[in-house]
Amino acid sequence: MSCIFCKIIDGEIPCSKVYEDDKVLAFNDINPVAPIHILVIPKEHFDSLIDISEEQMDIMAHIHKVINKIAKEQGFDKDGFRVINNCGVNGGQEVKHLHYHILGGQKLPMYEA
Ligand code: C5P
Repeated sequence: MSCIFCKIIDGEIPCSKVYEDDKVLAFNDINPVAPIHILVIPKEHFDSLIDISEEQMDIMAHIHKVINKIAKEQGFDKDGFRVINNCGVNGGQEVKHLHYHILGGQKLPMYEA
């Protein structure tokens, strides 16, 4: 298996774990671009957001539930944060395993189109 995030899920590659349940894993990004930079990934491998079928969309609601939970548990829910999904080549996706970035801990600059 060559997917680096699948290896993190399987424990072959270590991570700084933030949250885990039977469907998702969240960990601190190894190369943070903000004081808070957490990745939330499904344990089931999907290359990207566009590879999830309608029948599989429940995972998206679950990921958002987990983001909500992490923000409240870590106390950055009040100050606000940003959730980003990079999808495909034009979206700048580097790791081909669906993931959401949670960025926070400071007032974030507006992103470029
Ligand atoms: O959305 P994109 O694919 O560009 O982001 C991948 C992210 O995965 C990067 O922010 C990178 O720092 C992170 N990463 C990580 N741990 C790894 C490999 C990549 O946190 N072992």
